[in-house]
Amino acid sequence: MSRSLLDVASVREYLSRRLLCSMETNDKVLALTFDDGPNPHHTPRLLDMFAAKGIDATFFVVGRRVRRFPEILKAVQDAGHEIGNHTNHHIPMSLLPPALLRREIRVCGELIESTTGQRPRFLRPPMGWINDYVLKTIRSMGYEPVIGSIHPQDSRRPGRDKIIQRVRKRVEPGSVIILHDGGWWLGVDREQTLEAVDILTDELLEAGYRFLTLSGMCPRLSPHSPEKPASPGTPPRQ
Ligand SMILES: [Zn+2]
Repeated sequence: MSRSLLDVASVREYLSRRLLCSMETNDKVLALTFDDGPNPHHTPRLLDMFAAKGIDATFFVVGRRVRRFPEILKAVQDAGHEIGNHTNHHIPMSLLPPALLRREIRVCGELIESTTGQRPRFLRPPMGWINDYVLKTIRSMGYEPVIGSIHPQDSRRPGRDKIIQRVRKRVEPGSVIILHDGGWWLGVDREQTLEAVDILTDELLEAGYRFLTLSGMCPRLSPHSPEKPASPGTPPRQ
């Protein structure tokens, strides 16, 4: 039985007091998010699928992959999707000494900005490893930390139908769904994810949902995100 920690209501409540997990809304809106790309095999196929269905999504990219595949990142941007920072090397942030932690954030952000001309608003900590110092550092560097509310563990390749069931069971207005278009290995197989996303999006569009970028869904700071990100020159709160 492989339940995600995000299936546990008390864990979601704990996290949502610290960082963005979902949007409180009655509108039938959802945010699909994809981690660990850009990936040359899977990201372009998602872009084609989303263009055909009129879906906007958010891609949390890893710096070392952006350096290798800048043209894919540019295509993500040109298609109107949002790009978020997922650090440079995808190392659990709470294990990093302060200087390296800041470097992991900064280098990925710079690579995204030099490729797309835009500074990302959101950062998703790799594997959800956080502590208060990590969150404070992310905010002090101008990012809003985000996790999500549904984690079907597609990166473990549990089978297309399992991924679909796990999302179906938990989806509600304002959900932020965590999926993967890349992985630690460049040749990682994300076929199950792509098939599940194709089926789920058809089903949810039919049910009246709209798919927005995170910024599209959360135009201002979410009520779930109690601390404001520090703007440059603003002393960090406590
Ligand atoms: Zn990741």
